[in-house]
Amino acid sequence: MKKETIPTMNPINETHRIQTGQLDVPPRLLLGPGPSNAHPRVLQALGMRQVGHLDPHFIALMNDIQELLRYAWQTDNELTIPVSGTGSAAMEASLANTVEPGDVVLVGVNGYFGERLVDMAGRYGADVRRLEKEWGQTFTLDELRAGLEKHRPAILALVHAETSTGARQPLEGVGQLCRELDCLLLVDTVTSLGGVPLFLDAWDIDLAYSGSQKCLSCPPGLAPLTLGPRAVARLHNRQTKVANWYLDMSQLGRYWGSERTYHHTAPINMNYALREALRLVAGEGLEARWARHQANAELLWDGLEALGLACHVAREFRLPSLTTVRVPEGVDARVVARTLLNDYNIEIAGGFGPLAGKIWRIGLMGFNSRRENVLLLLSALERVLS
Ligand SMILES: *Cc1c(COP(=O)(O)O)cnc(C)c1O
Repeated sequence: MKKETIPTMNPINETHRIQTGQLDVPPRLLLGPGPSNAHPRVLQALGMRQVGHLDPHFIALMNDIQELLRYAWQTDNELTIPVSGTGSAAMEASLANTVEPGDVVLVGVNGYFGERLVDMAGRYGADVRRLEKEWGQTFTLDELRAGLEKHRPAILALVHAETSTGARQPLEGVGQLCRELDCLLLVDTVTSLGGVPLFLDAWDIDLAYSGSQKCLSCPPGLAPLTLGPRAVARLHNRQTKVANWYLDMSQLGRYWGSERTYHHTAPINMNYALREALRLVAGEGLEARWARHQANAELLWDGLEALGLACHVAREFRLPSLTTVRVPEGVDARVVARTLLNDYNIEIAGGFGPLAGKIWRIGLMGFNSRRENVLLLLSALERVLS
């Protein structure tokens, strides 16, 4: 019998038609700087059947997410949404919406993510000024005041939890200072939301962003963003259009607000997952969750010390969600991390920038912040080091 062919069709190029196996991945314990392992209930929610993104059921779910995000951040901000994208998308949105060309933006640079804020603010035309500290140190209130008085910025941007260094930037009093000097306070809370004490409204933080895959224990793909009344006023008083269509909150706010007008299709299943992740936060309660992160971090710190290892950050400023530990003299940091991964299925990370080869970074975030994980890592590390 003659084979049927479509007469006008070109010959099909079969080069890229590879025969590949069904997806299989090893059971890794992700104790690096993120992503962390998603909670099983979050993964279950991710696989739920879909509804349309303007379906009444999805709209109810959007409301749940917004309300639960307000709880996690301790804010009443109306404009509180998950941006479609990873943490960097909300980071970019925070600047794209509030910066106009020529605005002075002062960035606290004491690690890699401060550098990224500098880069992004510059791309939106900001006159970027830097306040610098060594990687692993934090800014005092006096240093911040001096910086604000010198540069008189429209926005001060700080990283609450510097994942590249393991340092926690104290924020008490900073918002007050910013109000006194008439500037907005923008805070990166990617590695703190859901794991480290954080009070957006009580601390007068005007805008903040986060990511789904760190202390919220959700896969990467959504990025919480919140704008307080002063940030919203700034958005409304802009002279120029937001220079990024996808991240424009004056448009996106309508999709997530009462109008529900189409802007872009929300990643439906990722929103299922984030809702479940935030429900887990509310179920546990912030106080218990923060205490759990702190207790497990202390267990890790004491265990590392017992192995003769030293943490990079002073105890007072250490993040419970991310510990940086110094690599002992004569040890190849990369070989240790590779052995933990290959022989024990445990992922930790090394340092980079000025801390390359000098530290390991160990994350205990969300669902992964558990005693058994700490003890497993410590015993594996002890074997690898000896
Ligand atoms: C991970 C992280 C980001 C960026 O998030 P992505 O999800 O990788 O885009 C931003 N800031 C800090 C402090 C982070 O740890």
